[in-house]
Amino acid sequence: MNIHEYQGKEILRKYGVAVPNGKVAFSPEEAVKVAKELGSNVIVVKAQIHAGGRGKAGGVKIAKNLEEVRTYAKELLGKILVTHQTGPEGKEVKRLYIEEGSDIKKEYYLSFVLDRATSRVTLMGSEEGGMDIEEVAETSPEKIFKEVIDPVTGLLPFQARRMAFNMNIPAKLVNKAAKLMLGLYEAFVEKDASILEINPLVVTGNEEVVALDAKFNFDANALYRHKDIVELRDYDEEDPKEIEASKYDLSYIPLDGNIGCMVNGAGLAMATMDTISYYGGKPANFLDVGGGATTEKVTEAFKIILSDPNVKGIFVNIFGGIMKCDVIAEGVITAAKQLGLKVPLVVRLEGTNVDLGKELLNASGLNIVAADSMADGAEKIVELVG
Ligand code: ADP
Ligand code: MG
Repeated sequence: MNIHEYQGKEILRKYGVAVPNGKVAFSPEEAVKVAKELGSNVIVVKAQIHAGGRGKAGGVKIAKNLEEVRTYAKELLGKILVTHQTGPEGKEVKRLYIEEGSDIKKEYYLSFVLDRATSRVTLMGSEEGGMDIEEVAETSPEKIFKEVIDPVTGLLPFQARRMAFNMNIPAKLVNKAAKLMLGLYEAFVEKDASILEINPLVVTGNEEVVALDAKFNFDANALYRHKDIVELRDYDEEDPKEIEASKYDLSYIPLDGNIGCMVNGAGLAMATMDTISYYGGKPANFLDVGGGATTEKVTEAFKIILSDPNVKGIFVNIFGGIMKCDVIAEGVITAAKQLGLKVPLVVRLEGTNVDLGKELLNASGLNIVAADSMADGAEKIVELVG
């Protein structure tokens, strides 16, 4: 789960990490009010969307007086911001972060990520901070330094200082930078984050080390123990189909093809998508209905697939273990009748209660093409979709 920059900075403040003063605003009036309260000579108006690259896309504006704050706030609110992370459709700006301007001397890069290869939290840093870290990683990877963190000891002060030296932080600010890194690490671990990226980390004219941007990503499997984080979820930033799916505990990921897939088990779902591709088709989604799905859950899953206007056919591929084939059949029938199914439907059932499931489908009067195997089903749906 992602949160906005201003929410991330609020968390960081609690861990003693230096961030500029600022507050969220939902209207130009509110933006001006916050700017007045901040009382700083330079005010930065920052679009809040769940994507980076805002600076380059015109989503970060430097205002020198309250009138400029109002002008920029008006310009940004409601605007569709297209950055290299939003995709071509962009994201609508609905919130602004109004922040004190920092007197930046130099921008650095800092992040904590969970490295799956070592199974450890890793601190990464570079003196090439600012907006283009992807390019640094590509062209001069030797400029990115790493510290692998032992989960037993946590980030050790000497590691943080070594990182600061490697990043060429001015010698007299190394201790300040190290303290900030230790605060970031504590926040990362306590909140069960999977990414915490500070780009840029800056050294200012009055010799402070400050986090100027904050990108948090949280481990969805740990959210149950962080009610405070769950409250920060912004539904406007998420695909409505994914929100609907998460209500029913379904794993759904929209893709850009036209064959809707309903499968149980992540492995079988991946294999189904591969098989569809093998026969020249393109899956419209990944959908795992899970092990113990109820008729209601299957019905909802079917509705979510059909709410995608690109779907020209559906392939249901179920291997019933804990999941019973008759439950799947009932869900498919209920949803197809409720929604008036108009696209071709291929169903392959195998496993527990398969005969009962097939009987239900046959008796339903729906136009369903039965398949004998995964390959057979994939081939049939690709052919029907054309
Ligand atoms: P993004 O990563 O989405 O482009 P950032 O928050 O990193 O957004 O901002 C982009 C750039 O804008 C920064 O690299 C920095 O140069 C400038 N900037 C951001 N916040 C401030 C601030 N409070 N004061 C001065 N400059 C800022
Ligand atoms: Mg940034």
